Amino acid sequence: MKKDRNNIDRRSFFRLVGGGVMATTATIAGCTSKDPKRGGSALGEVPIGKMTYRTNHNTNDEVSILGFGMMRLPLRQKVDGTGEEVDQEAVNELVDYALAHGVNYFDASATYVRGWSETATGIALSRHPRESYRVATKFSNHNNTQWRDRKEAIALYERSKRNLQVDYLDYYLLHACGVGPATYSTEKDIDDEFDTIDKLILKERFFDNGMLDYFVEERRAGRIKNLGWSFHGKVEVFDFMLALHDKGRYHWDFVQIQLNYVDWKYASGWNVNAEYLYGELAKRNIPVVIMEPLLGGRLASNIEYLATRLKQQRPNESLASWAFRYAGSFPQVLSVLSGMTYMEHLQDNLRTFSPLDELSEGEFELLADTARRMKEYSSVPCTACEYCMPCPYGIDIPRIFTHYNKCINENNVPESAQDENYRRARRAFLIGYDRSVPKLRQASHCIGCDQCVHHCPQAINIPAELQRIDIYVDTLKKEA
Ligand code: SF4
Ligand code: SF4
Repeated sequence: MKKDRNNIDRRSFFRLVGGGVMATTATIAGCTSKDPKRGGSALGEVPIGKMTYRTNHNTNDEVSILGFGMMRLPLRQKVDGTGEEVDQEAVNELVDYALAHGVNYFDASATYVRGWSETATGIALSRHPRESYRVATKFSNHNNTQWRDRKEAIALYERSKRNLQVDYLDYYLLHACGVGPATYSTEKDIDDEFDTIDKLILKERFFDNGMLDYFVEERRAGRIKNLGWSFHGKVEVFDFMLALHDKGRYHWDFVQIQLNYVDWKYASGWNVNAEYLYGELAKRNIPVVIMEPLLGGRLASNIEYLATRLKQQRPNESLASWAFRYAGSFPQVLSVLSGMTYMEHLQDNLRTFSPLDELSEGEFELLADTARRMKEYSSVPCTACEYCMPCPYGIDIPRIFTHYNKCINENNVPESAQDENYRRARRAFLIGYDRSVPKLRQASHCIGCDQCVHHCPQAINIPAELQRIDIYVDTLKKEA
């Protein structure tokens, strides 16, 4: 694949996005040619053979800038009515289409889609030549303590390969570093890794059981091609992992972070701004895989007047395409993951990335301003990842937050009965709430037990937010 770098000048780029990172010598950012008319994302035909690829300098791997996140796979009711299952035919169709249009990176996990992700991914991909795709999966022992025992941990790793029907993993990640009920060090200057690690949950997950060394051996044997980790959480964990790399204890081939135009400067809770995360990785020339480019879908349906501004700039393109182009415009980025449930999502993303039309300086500024304005609204930074589920009391946490955020975006969260559109918005909020979330699963039934809180990678104070929404719902009902 021919590379034709066409990035905006790096110095201006980093000044613009505020990263302060001046030097990367990466071969990572080789892009295929751009469409000068910006036709790549226009609605209509889905281009074939135009996908942008990036080169991973560790392995010279050519990776599609659009990565298929296998975490929101289509489901269907079982024929015998006993619940849901993966709609394998639909997954096969999506995977076939993605491959035919140049996507070659597929990102699964042992825990995605109720544990079905790897198997469904394996069934779909194994129908294609092994060299036509790169498969990533994760060592997901963050909320299952049983998988921290060495024997169980090795079995988990082997099971992933079996489920994916592969002899080797192209990309393997220590999953969700920084998430979990842990006491973190507040010491930023890490001199002695193993003094610091005593205070981290990572010690139990990867070190005490020798699993990280085991994976390093697997990489040496060629059964793992690239070893890395994904990150949500406190900055001390991130710094600790990079200190291991800096001191030559472990070499990270790539790292997966949450990056989008809101999290660049306004990460919520204890999460770290993407500006810092990306900057530190770029400084070290570590390839970056992006998750949550749409912030759990929130950037695909923005607040009405903000959406209108973006639409005016590029009328034929979706809101999602702005967020994807933002993530893809960073030169150190290897792949931008998107969990695509429906063919329309896949096609829209293919248009965006075939080829990628990187953001101009003005567009970066517009998105920075959009992010600033979004922060003024009190939406919940939920990405609908479902890590907090199931709630033992049946609360449907992600759906409640999704409904609330959707209503904010659609201007259906009136502040007072004096609001011009109060009656219409109140009705839309309450009717939509009952339709989206069955009564017994609504916020009013949360007992505040806190069991969900530690699982949330966005550090949302879930019971407090549920209470806030419940009080709001009550107010709306009383003001009938
Ligand atoms: S705090 Fe509420 S939502 Fe969270 S687990 Fe307890 S009952 Fe469920
Ligand atoms: S509340 Fe947190 S853990 Fe639960 S779905 Fe939202 S982001 Fe994920």
